Amino acid sequence: MKKSLCFSCLHRENRPEIGLSDQLTYCRKKEMVVRPKMECPIYSKATTRAVQELNRALYGVMEEVEE
Ligand code: SF4
Repeated sequence: MKKSLCFSCLHRENRPEIGLSDQLTYCRKKEMVVRPKMECPIYSKATTRAVQELNRALYGVMEEVEE
């Protein structure tokens, strides 16, 4: 079976408290728990760069840890 879009979407938030993670997921954009979608007009692919940019926007710039 084809994987739903949500699992590769930038707007998906992994919330362990939701439980059944392959049947329900949290959409940050819609601000609600949703059933994983096969089509979505606001899907945005979670590329490495997009995830880094989102993390930077949410948490600020991480300083390099000096060893
Ligand atoms: S934007 Fe669409 S594809 Fe992305 S997590 Fe939300 S419902 Fe799923």
